[in-house]
This record gives sequence, structure tokens and C-alpha cells, in this order.
Amino acid sequence: MPFSSLGLSPALARAARELGFEQPTPIQQQAIPAIVQGRDVWASARTGSGKTAAFALPALLQHQNLALGQPGRGARSVHTLVVVPTRELAAQVGEVLRSLGRHLPQPPKIAVVFGGVSVNPQMMALRGGADIVVATPGRLLDLVEQRALRLSQVQLLVLDEADRLLDLGFADELQRTLALLPRQRQTLFFSATYPQAVEALAQSLLHDPLRVEI
Ligand code: AMP
Repeated sequence: MPFSSLGLSPALARAARELGFEQPTPIQQQAIPAIVQGRDVWASARTGSGKTAAFALPALLQHQNLALGQPGRGARSVHTLVVVPTRELAAQVGEVLRSLGRHLPQPPKIAVVFGGVSVNPQMMALRGGADIVVATPGRLLDLVEQRALRLSQVQLLVLDEADRLLDLGFADELQRTLALLPRQRQTLFFSATYPQAVEALAQSLLHDPLRVEI
């Protein structure tokens, strides 16, 4: 099954090919067509499964479709929010999004924000808005509270490595952030393990999800 049969655009299939992705991985084969059709996804997937591209490619397709509808748009608003547990993962996900999005006619503005470093450069980077934000929960909430970032237009929420998000004690920040998102949105939930708290979080966030177990 080639990338071009997953409902993606030629620009995205080309970027995937150039990264050396010849065939979609099993999680990509199962999740991408469902995500493109607007479904929530509940995935049990580890690092190494290709999970990042499984959510990055549909997020970029959403960007392409939105950009097409609003060619001269001014201030950008965040349409995709990816929440991750660590700064390393945030940086990696940001890189994958940039690489896979490079052939889009109007590439997205991607902001990667995480704690442990000065907030000012991140606030500067968010001036004028962003299309896709990749964030760790504490800094995300700080930036929202300081009005550097608005989440009212988010259409796609991705929780990546949800088990680690809870292990690292981010439940409170996460809940406070989730309360600020539009209720009408698509949610993708990725976790390697499903202890009870993770299961409960998934249940509370997902509507009629496609379950993908790799
Ligand atoms: P991830 O599970 O997202 O951390 O990805 C693990 C590794 O697999 C990364 O180095 C990706 O670049 C690579 N990868 C993702 N999708 C594919 C694919 N379809 N074909 C080959 N490699 C891939």
C-alpha cells in the first residue's frame, strides 16, 4: 500500500518518500485514512512504530486544506495542538512536522514550546500566531494564561505518549488546558501502555474512536 492511497496530498506523499518512507507502517495504514475522514483515534503504539508521521501527515493535510480556503489570511490561529511529555519529544515532533510539510504550497508556521528555558523567545515566536503548536503541558498553560497563545480555534488535538504525560505529573495542567479547547474537535490519543488513569483519560476525551493496536 503506497502513501498516495491513504487520502493524503501529492505534496505530503512526496515529502514522505523523500524521507525514505517507502511504505506506510501498520499504524500509518490503519490510522491515517480514519484521521483524514475526521475520526478520533485511540492508538496503542510505541516509539518506533511510525506514530509521529501517523498524526503529523493528517495534521499537515488539514493545514493544506485550511490554507487553500483562506489564501490571504492574516493572523494565524492554532488549528492543531500536539501535547507531549518532554522537551526532546517536542523538538522531534516539530522536526517531523517541518520535514513532512516542506512541499506544501503554504507551509504551516509551527511553534515548539517547552519548559525549562526562558519563556520570552517562545512568546516572540508566537507573535502573529501559529498554525501548529507542539507543547509540553506546563509551558503551554503558562503561555495561554499570559495570552501569548489562544486555543479557541483548535480543530485537532493530539496527545502523544499520554502514559508518560500522566507519569510525569501533568494531569492537572492537562485538564486545565483541555477545558480551554473547543468541544467540537477531533482528538488523537497515543500511548504505549494503558493503566487505569490513562484509560480513563482516553475515555473522557474520545468520541467513537477507531482503536488501533500495534
Ligand atoms: P516514531 O515511532 O514516530 O518515533 O518513528 C520511528 C522512526 O521510524 C522514525 O525514525 C521515522 O523517521 C521512521 N518512520 C516513520 N514512518 C516510516 C515509514 N513509513 N517508513 C520508514 N520509516 C518510517
